[in-house]
Amino acid sequence: MDPVTQTVQHALQSPNYILEFTYLVASILFVFGLKGLSHPDSARRGMFLAMGGMAAAIIGTLFHRDIQFYGWIIAGLILGSIVGAAFAIWVPMTAMPQRTALSHAFGAIAAALVGIAEFTMHAQTMSLFTRSALGLEVMLGSLTTTGSLIACGKLQGIIRGTPVQFKGQQILNLLIFLGMVGCFGYSLYDPSATYFFYGMVALGFLFGVMLVIPIGSADMPVVMSLLNSYAGLSSAATGFVLGNNILIIAGTLDGFSGFILSILMCKAMNRSITNVLFGGFGAVHHEAGAGATGEMREISLDDAAVRLAYANKVVFVPGYGLATAQAQHAVRDLANALEERGITVKYGIHPVAGRMPGHMNVLLAEANVPYGELYEMDQINPEFPTTDVAVVVGANDVVNPDARDNPNSPIAGMPILEVDKAKSVIVLKRGQGRGFSGLENPLFFKPVTSMLYGDAKSSLAQLAQLVKNV
Ligand code: NAP
Repeated sequence: MDPVTQTVQHALQSPNYILEFTYLVASILFVFGLKGLSHPDSARRGMFLAMGGMAAAIIGTLFHRDIQFYGWIIAGLILGSIVGAAFAIWVPMTAMPQRTALSHAFGAIAAALVGIAEFTMHAQTMSLFTRSALGLEVMLGSLTTTGSLIACGKLQGIIRGTPVQFKGQQILNLLIFLGMVGCFGYSLYDPSATYFFYGMVALGFLFGVMLVIPIGSADMPVVMSLLNSYAGLSSAATGFVLGNNILIIAGTLDGFSGFILSILMCKAMNRSITNVLFGGFGAVHHEAGAGATGEMREISLDDAAVRLAYANKVVFVPGYGLATAQAQHAVRDLANALEERGITVKYGIHPVAGRMPGHMNVLLAEANVPYGELYEMDQINPEFPTTDVAVVVGANDVVNPDARDNPNSPIAGMPILEVDKAKSVIVLKRGQGRGFSGLENPLFFKPVTSMLYGDAKSSLAQLAQLVKNV
């Protein structure tokens, strides 16, 4: 028999060969999926590759030779699919961050439960290395579970979004942390001391809560990305405990990509991770901001349409309001109407506009806005002085000039889209609402700025109609 046929036959006869092969395919798909997600152009393809990887990993696992009863697995698959489908159908795009936080909590509790089950069954016979990995898995899994649930509650408005801070908080947190790590250490030394192991689990759950309550909702995306990283590392540790390669690979990819993303977000806000975790950002509220005095000038729909119709170059700057208004199709329609008149249209995308990384890219891609029209902050900023109209669609903090001009501002140093340098600015928002930082925005008071009040979707739709009729 030739070697190829021999290998195929062997593979078919040996379930673990199939398992290892599907795990290899899954790992490759995960790596290419991640690569695809790094650019809007290839993000959708990346997502499909990662989904394929996950399907391969699940199918491969079904061939595991240790499986004795498929009933629980099928029940889990059905239940998980129902929850996933419900999320996909009923959770709106604007609630995606809290949905993601909930998914992290599910992943983390799964890792923690697997670890607890392994500890209960095999703790006495495990090597020190496996017990260390298991302890790490359960510790990270438990703190990520409660941390993610608090993050979800804050983002959904079930829990107060402002930082919860009190005297001696950091000392208390340190004591809980040391207690948790101490229990972990003792359970390594004496695996029969189960109280220490369960003490670590309880303190892990408590630490997750204590870690996230002092952080304001505005910083939740960074926190979630960090928790995502912990959940990934916890899965990787599970892989070491179970001797499962795909968990080690996927967990490590997840862990480190989450960590890199947190750093990138902090950079985009000019803040350190320590400042995010311990700075209590969002506790200080409703500061006026330098230059935020005088009157805001309102513009009518007709005047705004005329200004746009006779411009040479228009730059749209979308923010969180675009997501709440679901105005991505309306902005594209207005852009089309302007382009039909020969006007150059571009979009300026801030890295932390919206409530999660890539929020604006996802929305605009959904409306088929050509990727070539999307410009990153560093590319578009030099273009504002030659822009006739900058249209701010539900953005606030990411265009707040105080971040650049006022060193005492809580957002000082955060890079912004410098729309105030454009020849004129039209700001679409519903009323006097503040940005997520709770700060007043001096941009709205500048002579160059006109305010167009109303829901962004409806304002954009009416503008598109009016521009066509000019
Ligand atoms: P923003 O500062 O939250 O401002 C959103 C604006 O949209 C508000 O001023 C609001 O004013 C307006 N708005 C809301 N609904 C609207 C509607 N239906 N139609 C028209 N306007 C509407 O948003 P942003 O400029 O995008 O800034 C994002 C913030 O999130 C930043 O502070 C950033 O640091 C933070 N953040 C983001 C991430 C991320 O990954 N994206 C991560 C960490 C932190 P009205 O209420 O008056 O309408």
